[in-house]
Amino acid sequence: MSTQGCLMCEMEGAAEEVVIFRDELWACEILPGYEVPGWVVLRARRHAVGWTGLDEAELNSFGHRARAVDGALKRVTHAPATYVMIFGEAYPHFHALMVARGVDVPPERRTGDILKLRAEWADPARAHQLLPGLRAAYTDLAQAGDLDTIPTHWRSQR
Ligand SMILES: [Zn+2]
Repeated sequence: MSTQGCLMCEMEGAAEEVVIFRDELWACEILPGYEVPGWVVLRARRHAVGWTGLDEAELNSFGHRARAVDGALKRVTHAPATYVMIFGEAYPHFHALMVARGVDVPPERRTGDILKLRAEWADPARAHQLLPGLRAAYTDLAQAGDLDTIPTHWRSQR
């Protein structure tokens, strides 16, 4: 299983400044090249390829992490819609692009077409300004919603 040239693996070395959270199984960050305000990536910490590459612990926790990230995006951006996109083609390492679709996104750029805004709407400074709020909202929502699903031996490390 090649991890060379895998952007999702490379994110393990990314600075804390881009991180919304990292736990034993999952990380959520702003990715270089995807710096549109309200766009984040939730990725498996290890090079797990596709849905079938996830182990039981990852499968059982993904929904809770995605729900908390989604809630954090909604809370911080007040976007009327949020999207979760999983392609697994450019980078088969399991990850989800999670996007807040703001009121300013025109109808012809909604749903799948929102990806066309990736370069045009990139604004790293504004994207990073959202991070403190996203971190706080994620922590709040994750603690409220999913600690029961995390094995006890992990809780002490959080
Ligand atoms: Zn990888």
